[in-house]
Amino acid sequence: MGKQMLDVAIIGGGPAGLNAALVLGRARKKIVVIDEGSPRNMVTHASHGFLTRDGVAPSEFRALAKEEISVYPSIAFIKDMAISIEGSDGQFRITTKHGESFISKKILFAVGMKDRPLTIPGLAEVYGKSAFVCPYCDGWELRDEQLVIINKGAELMHAAPLISGWTNQVTICTNGPDQLTDDERKELEQHQVSVFDSVIKQIDSNDGIVEQVVLEDGTVIACRGIFFKPDLVTGSALPQALGCEITEAGMIVTDDFGKTTISGVYSAGDAASKLYQTIAAASMGALTAVAINNELNIETWKRAK
Ligand SMILES: Cc1cc2nc3c(=O)[nH]c(=O)nc-3n(C[C@H](O)[C@H](O)[C@H](O)COP(=O)(O)OP(=O)(O)OC[C@H]3O[C@@H](n4cnc5c(N)ncnc54)[C@H](O)[C@@H]3O)c2cc1C
Repeated sequence: MGKQMLDVAIIGGGPAGLNAALVLGRARKKIVVIDEGSPRNMVTHASHGFLTRDGVAPSEFRALAKEEISVYPSIAFIKDMAISIEGSDGQFRITTKHGESFISKKILFAVGMKDRPLTIPGLAEVYGKSAFVCPYCDGWELRDEQLVIINKGAELMHAAPLISGWTNQVTICTNGPDQLTDDERKELEQHQVSVFDSVIKQIDSNDGIVEQVVLEDGTVIACRGIFFKPDLVTGSALPQALGCEITEAGMIVTDDFGKTTISGVYSAGDAASKLYQTIAAASMGALTAVAINNELNIETWKRAK
């Protein structure tokens, strides 16, 4: 496979990359999916909100997807990390950590996002078990519970009303200066939401379930769950190395069909959107696959004239 010209090399085998593979495989395109197997949601036991797969473990979702896709013979899966990509539209060379190389006409980056290391002591122990990032994904399981939101400033003023849809027992820890205006503080007060701006000393938990948040000023907040804002970076440095435009927040810039600023290079899923939902990533993977297939077919059609 390494020597033959592939139509598309998909870097990343999460929901976006796998759904793109399904569409491209059914369109009879020769593709490789290179995936190192470290998705952001690997810390969680159950993924929610994907119709027909509500509550499935992320690993099971991937296994089911691969089983379905493996009936299409032009798709190969490689468990490896892509470490370099050279060339341009029509002929890219991808090299992996284990020394394999592939030549492909198009590239699809479905590399997701990565969390920067968690700095609050005790947060890593509860992440994915009782501390989460998205209430649509995990709010139902924590409904009516005593929750702590760790966030600050304008984003906090988005998070607080949002999470109030799942519980009215919310305390806010800004873990340092709250970056709120007087009006915003007043608004939170009117909703009986307490705001603590002392730095978080530690999060105490038992078997992954948060019990209390301890602040440096001595305040102890008992709670059963946490929602926090993670600090994210693009899942791989390769898109930037290839010249793709990236936003300050680490998102790969694309048009509505996943086309990046570099010819022949596409991106889909969390790496190219702010939705951070499995079903949205899969849907974007499918849409982008259609765009890539269209481009490939038109190129072949024109060459054959
Ligand atoms: C704690 C947590 C819980 C979540 N729960 C839910 C939920 O309940 N419901 C929901 O809809 N969403 C949930 N999400 C969001 C969901 O995980 C993402 O939206 C989704 O996984 C994005 O899919 P993706 O294919 O874009 O990226 P990912 O699933 O992150 O997959 C990207 C893949 O690319 C690989 N990769 C990156 N670089 C390279 C490289 N150079 N070479 C090879 N492989 C590479 C990675 O290892 C990874 O396997 C959750 C997220 C987190 C963090």
